Amino acid sequence: MAVFVLDKAGKSLMPCSEKRARLLLERGRARVHRLTPFVIRLVDRQRADSALQPLTLKTDPGSRYTGLALVRQQVGRVSVLSLMELVHRGAAIRKALEQRAGFRRRRRSKNLRHRKPRFNNRTRRKGWLAPSLQHRIDTTLSWVRRIRRWAPITELAVERVKFDMQAMQNPEISGVEYQQGELAGYEVREYLLEKWGRCCAYCGTENIPLEIEHIQARSNGGSDRVSNLTLACRPCNQRKGNQPVEVFLKGKPELLARIKAKAKAPLRDAAAVNATRNALFVALLETGLPVATGTGAQTKYNRRSLNIPKTHALDAVCVGEVEAVSSWQRPTLTIKATGRGDYQRTRLTVQGFPRGYLTRQKRHFGFQTGDQVIATVPSGKPAFTVAAWPFAKQAASTSRLRAP
Ligand SMILES: [Zn+2]
Repeated sequence: MAVFVLDKAGKSLMPCSEKRARLLLERGRARVHRLTPFVIRLVDRQRADSALQPLTLKTDPGSRYTGLALVRQQVGRVSVLSLMELVHRGAAIRKALEQRAGFRRRRRSKNLRHRKPRFNNRTRRKGWLAPSLQHRIDTTLSWVRRIRRWAPITELAVERVKFDMQAMQNPEISGVEYQQGELAGYEVREYLLEKWGRCCAYCGTENIPLEIEHIQARSNGGSDRVSNLTLACRPCNQRKGNQPVEVFLKGKPELLARIKAKAKAPLRDAAAVNATRNALFVALLETGLPVATGTGAQTKYNRRSLNIPKTHALDAVCVGEVEAVSSWQRPTLTIKATGRGDYQRTRLTVQGFPRGYLTRQKRHFGFQTGDQVIATVPSGKPAFTVAAWPFAKQAASTSRLRAP
């Protein structure tokens, strides 16, 4: 993993290797600036005296994980410097808010049922996202800002959409190419798999090779548009041949209606999936750096053709146009979003009744939840490791503790 390097004024320089960092520290030319991720600060160098190369921070946003990759752009290839994955806490936020809503609902229907219902006077600003989604953007953005403090990033890249709608709706692009593994065709295939739930549209069989199937056969004037395409297993595809779909599904009117409705459904559902990604893209633009974009299908295509295993961070490396990747065999730093505590000062029982109240301050006896401490336990026989010692007990015996 590359080590981030700052100059003596705290400005970012090019990251260096672990070995180089160790030598710099041994020779007294650098100080440790931060432990995770490891950042050192040179004591005798200024940014003006150093050569910087173009660095790109690539992002693959996901619902549970966001992959981040710091790469150096070289001629015809990217060289990976640092891999990170951000673990989001969207599910935890959602659960907490749903629980709070449930408690309120109970209070209003039980304790306050005599009250008139309030006029629906709440408005949501344009571009509002649910807190669990907004958190994904906020945490990703704060890590982008943080990494920018440690490395002279010149460009950002983000997977903006899952599918490139424009390329797919244009029949020129989505023509016969999909059979030859071209990127545009790959995109169509991925889209169809997502849309039709990875099973045969006619018999519903899963986990078998699926073929792209024209609902109205091409020989009967059917088009190559995605609205005329579905997925079918080989037996179904061959049995249907070039029959009109109405004839093929004569005995199953409800299946026919379902397939027709689904095929004609616009790409709206996929657009909704993209709302968070697009919001992230807009937020990244505000950093002032150029932001390159890519599609999900493109990422997968790059990853497959470069023979790189699937992880969130390596997906980030493959975002956008990538021809070759070097030194991607690196450990990944996992960053877990933990939140910063609670606004809610009342602890509730499972039924939603007050159980106790939290204090306004977070620090007690000079310590706070999450602090790392070194415990000196001269006597006794602790049956647990020092790091796992419960915080409350730590605070009670501050005399035995010292902050690092
Ligand atoms: Zn089938």
